[in-house]
Amino acid sequence: MTQKAIVTDLNRCVGCLACSVACKLINGVEPGNFWNKTLRIGPNPKEEGSGVWPDVEMYFLMVQCQHCKNPECVAVCPTQASTKQADGTVQIDKAKCIGCQFCVMACPYGVRYLNKEEKVVEKCTLCSQRTAEGELPQCVSQCCGQARYFGDLDKGIESFVGPRGEIAGEFLLPWDASDVHTLPDVGNAPSMRYILRDRKWQGEL
Ligand code: SF4
Ligand code: SF4
Repeated sequence: MTQKAIVTDLNRCVGCLACSVACKLINGVEPGNFWNKTLRIGPNPKEEGSGVWPDVEMYFLMVQCQHCKNPECVAVCPTQASTKQADGTVQIDKAKCIGCQFCVMACPYGVRYLNKEEKVVEKCTLCSQRTAEGELPQCVSQCCGQARYFGDLDKGIESFVGPRGEIAGEFLLPWDASDVHTLPDVGNAPSMRYILRDRKWQGEL
């Protein structure tokens, strides 16, 4: 089994938006659509003292297609335009897409967008055009914080490769299993991983 994915070390992300901008440029994402969003989480008003400098409880979170193991977007597609590939990524065949947007409604994360000009749905492809050539996804290769790493989830996130060829398990500060998170799982089994140490994950507040 192979499951291509990205792990992001949120303790390293500085919220520069380089990944979001790089994605739009290389994939020609039309205005108003975002295949890779950078969200600001916090300041958390529930935490005592949070929101007051220098103890602001916040972090940045990149949200893109999670290339789920059980993708509901694939299950609801009436034309089989959305499919789960052998490398674990979920891809859209534009020639088969009729723009019905069932998949947009089925996705729990709002990461699919209608291309208004082509009248088909689009989303993060994990830069399949680049990874087919042995390159990293553009959001990983342009991450100036060295926060993003790409690899095969089934080989462990320690083996993932960063923007300068660094290996996550060697370059990043140590983490343990409780530091590794996913977006909320409603049965879709998201593949992307997020490392966040010493702070509370939004879903656990
Ligand atoms: Fe489908 Fe949404 Fe999962 Fe991506 S994140 S595979 S669009 S359900
Ligand atoms: Fe965009 Fe590629 Fe990153 Fe997906 S992997 S968000 S397509 S840059």
